[in-house]
Amino acid sequence: MVYEKNQLLTVEIIDMTTDGEGIGKIDGYPFFVKDAIIGDKAQIRVTRVKKNYAYGRLEKVLTPSSFRVETKCPFHKRCGGCQIQAMSYERQLQFKESKVKNNLIRIGGFAPEFLDKVMEPIVGMGEPFHYRNKALYPIGMDKEGNPVAGFYAGRTHSIIANTDCSLGVKENKEILEIILSYMKENHISAYDEATGKGFIRHVLIRKGFQSGEIMVCLVINSKIGKKNSTFLPNQDRLIGSLSNIKGMTSISVSINRERTNVVMGKEVHTIWGKDSIKDIIYVRNVENNFAATGRGITFSISPLSFYQINPVQTEKLYSLALSYAGITGKEVVWDLYCGIGTISLFLASNAKQVYGVEIVPQAIEDAKRNAAYNDIENVQFFVGNAEEIFPEKYEKDGIRADVVVVDPPRKGCDKACLDTVLKMASERIVYVSCDSATLARDLRILCADGYEIEKVRTVDMFPMTVHTEACVLLAKRKSIKEKSLVVERVV
Ligand code: SAH
Repeated sequence: MVYEKNQLLTVEIIDMTTDGEGIGKIDGYPFFVKDAIIGDKAQIRVTRVKKNYAYGRLEKVLTPSSFRVETKCPFHKRCGGCQIQAMSYERQLQFKESKVKNNLIRIGGFAPEFLDKVMEPIVGMGEPFHYRNKALYPIGMDKEGNPVAGFYAGRTHSIIANTDCSLGVKENKEILEIILSYMKENHISAYDEATGKGFIRHVLIRKGFQSGEIMVCLVINSKIGKKNSTFLPNQDRLIGSLSNIKGMTSISVSINRERTNVVMGKEVHTIWGKDSIKDIIYVRNVENNFAATGRGITFSISPLSFYQINPVQTEKLYSLALSYAGITGKEVVWDLYCGIGTISLFLASNAKQVYGVEIVPQAIEDAKRNAAYNDIENVQFFVGNAEEIFPEKYEKDGIRADVVVVDPPRKGCDKACLDTVLKMASERIVYVSCDSATLARDLRILCADGYEIEKVRTVDMFPMTVHTEACVLLAKRKSIKEKSLVVERVV
């Protein structure tokens, strides 16, 4: 059967892609359907036909899946941020665990029976909404010329107004409404990506969940070097309203005059309060269902620094990494891709010495400040590429680590880092990953050459989305026999 664009069909959704699209099949020919949930019987309209598969749009759910739930956000389909909000949270967790497992099988070449032995249950959230400590809203104008904050519709530049994202904190709405009415009252324009004209581009809001401190940063398309720290018309009026919000600690502007989709400008000026906010991350007891231990580390976060966006799950992820690292006090540890030193400082309180490396200079400045603030002295940070610094410190300075922790961006570890770990033959490697496909690729390399997986645990840092983190413990292989279990390619 040859299918045609715009054709209406009825399909049962029997599976899902890693991007959260439903998969329905007719005589073995697959249709990928956004917003369809596994278990749905659905009417779809064919949108694009390829040789071996086609895409369809969900027209109508004929019989809803038992995993379908009421969505909190009326915009979830158009926004695209919460790809699987219509699926029950239980089923989301199962989806993420399978995603990690399937990548380890398909890309990593690990046997399913072996993974069943080493995979620990996924770490989910009790309350999977309002978990984001950071929100970044684009600002635009609606058809009537009123300023709006919201999200970009599909692949367009038009903004759909929504100040109440169900993943964000409740203060976001209040802050955005203050900024929008200030813009209206003072006839301040929003930036227009198409023309490069207009003033306010984005609003960044961050909140420290433990400290309650809030930061607002307005990204503006402005000339640099205004006098007396005045960057906005009627600036005091805006500051007056924003500073009344409970917890408000820092108000700043970031200058971005570039015609680019990079949101933040390089320059940030504080116009009220402090330059950064503080937050505390507590160590949790992994063995006792992540119960609080009372031991915490304080971090200072500035508008430009990277900080995990889900603080509740971050505590669990870092505590898991710490427990996998198995540190007793004698170990030298490397933390590659260390950001503002979050994991490094967690490790340092138990280790003999920790070395961290990170490419962003401001992040390393934060890391050093954070170490000093917490009176942690047995840690040293380096700015640069992990793939250059880590091999160099090993080859030239003879720094050998007992444990190596890596937490790379989505593209995974550089080959030079993996080669150095293999040469160094550290006792343990803890791999924290935000992309299980590149994780699987790297584990295949490490396990072909001396390491074996001891434990794998998926951590749901991003409920309602298809993204997930995973933490893996690798140990130097004990026997040749076990090697055969892990390097066989199964698919
Ligand atoms: N462990 C930190 C940061 C993890 S995100 C945390 O949990 O907060 C990954 C980090 O890797 C980012 O801070 C990014 O700036 C950094 N990075 C990206 N490429 C890098 C490279 N080649 N060398 C070192 N760091 C890099």
